[in-house]
Amino acid sequence: MSTNPETQVLHAGWRADPSTGSVAVPIHQTTSFQFQDTGHAERLFGLAEMGFIYSRIMNPTVDVLEKRIAALEGGVAALALGSGQAATAFSILTLTQPGDNIVSSTDLYGGTWNLFANTLKQMGVEVRFVDPADPEGFARATDARTRAWYAETLPNPKLQVFPIAEVAAIGRKLGIPLIMDNTAAPILCKPLELGAAVVMHSTTKFIGGHGTSIGGIIVDGGNFDWEAGGDRFPTLNQPDPSYHGAVWTQAVKPLGPIAYIIRTRTCILRDLGAPMAPFNAFLTLQGLETLPLRMERHCANALRVAAFLSSHPAVERVIHPSVQTGEAKRRADAALRGGYGSLMGFELKAGASAGRAFIEALQLFYHVANIGDARSLAIHPATTTHSQLEPAEQLASGVTPGYVRLSIGIEHIDDILADLSQALDAATRA
Ligand code: PLP
Repeated sequence: MSTNPETQVLHAGWRADPSTGSVAVPIHQTTSFQFQDTGHAERLFGLAEMGFIYSRIMNPTVDVLEKRIAALEGGVAALALGSGQAATAFSILTLTQPGDNIVSSTDLYGGTWNLFANTLKQMGVEVRFVDPADPEGFARATDARTRAWYAETLPNPKLQVFPIAEVAAIGRKLGIPLIMDNTAAPILCKPLELGAAVVMHSTTKFIGGHGTSIGGIIVDGGNFDWEAGGDRFPTLNQPDPSYHGAVWTQAVKPLGPIAYIIRTRTCILRDLGAPMAPFNAFLTLQGLETLPLRMERHCANALRVAAFLSSHPAVERVIHPSVQTGEAKRRADAALRGGYGSLMGFELKAGASAGRAFIEALQLFYHVANIGDARSLAIHPATTTHSQLEPAEQLASGVTPGYVRLSIGIEHIDDILADLSQALDAATRA
């Protein structure tokens, strides 16, 4: 299979239905799959043969999406789930037990922050937050019960690219895997090539691209030696009481370096549910087919918007990797290829009231709490996504009162700029 993303998104994991010749991936809207005979059923349940049993665990439509995104990210296997949140939670729960910890960057999507600061804590898993600007901080926060490090490639609102290669290299010396949320930068960034062990996406965003389906996926890089970690990874290296005492790093060796993702599927997904629905996998596959083309247009439009906003008198500051300098720019250039992404922030000189007026005046941009849609989107974080935070906490997370977040779509650039221009005029009058 080609390693070119433009080809992978159309061809990886599927070549016409063997029984019907169907070129498009069929929607296998079924709960269960008939076994050929009792021996077949026994082999499937015993993992002696891989195959479909029940759609909570595996489904042929979902399987194509998993193979395709695994190929795109350069991993060995993937697991699609019902949401990005499920993907984040499962990516950690497969490695942790009560009393364990992970170390995470502070710069996270708010939903991930809540999961880490509250729900994982209630489950007995501590999350230690460190400043992503200081890669060595991950090592300092690590101890014998640390099971993984976690970060986002291009976290908003600061939009400073995470030092993936630096942190992954420090982690590999200590035997700690780096899990990267690559939701904001598919195609642009390949975290596994930079040393990450696992990649996750909310497929709800750029990969789906059309704002139709919530979904998530975890990709196993197959490039991390879990067995060498020994006691660091008891869930993979000690007998699993929920699977006839299987030791995952041993049990799946003949199938390849997939112990991590197999355990996530056969234990965590089996027990907690949250599979991706076949129809959502189908819609997500449609989006994936044009992802490389859309990312080109997203990035080209975003560059034009960043330049336009930078020279606008109502704008105090633009937040986008293309206009960064120094270390932030160096990290962006080291990790991103082909563009700086379509997420952008800008600060209005006139603060929160102007932010509201700007949002109210938009006609083309949708006012939604989402990113990565083919359409242009906008939101005023201080009064919405970050409104539960104290003003000081808002500032620490990068949200000033006049901050507006944009997700630049793939419409004609003239229409995007015209809408921004008229809304900025309205904000200035407010
Ligand atoms: N990760 C990032 C970076 C996100 O922006 C989001 C959602 O906004 C998620 C994870 C969670 O994904 P989902 O909404 O599909 O559960």
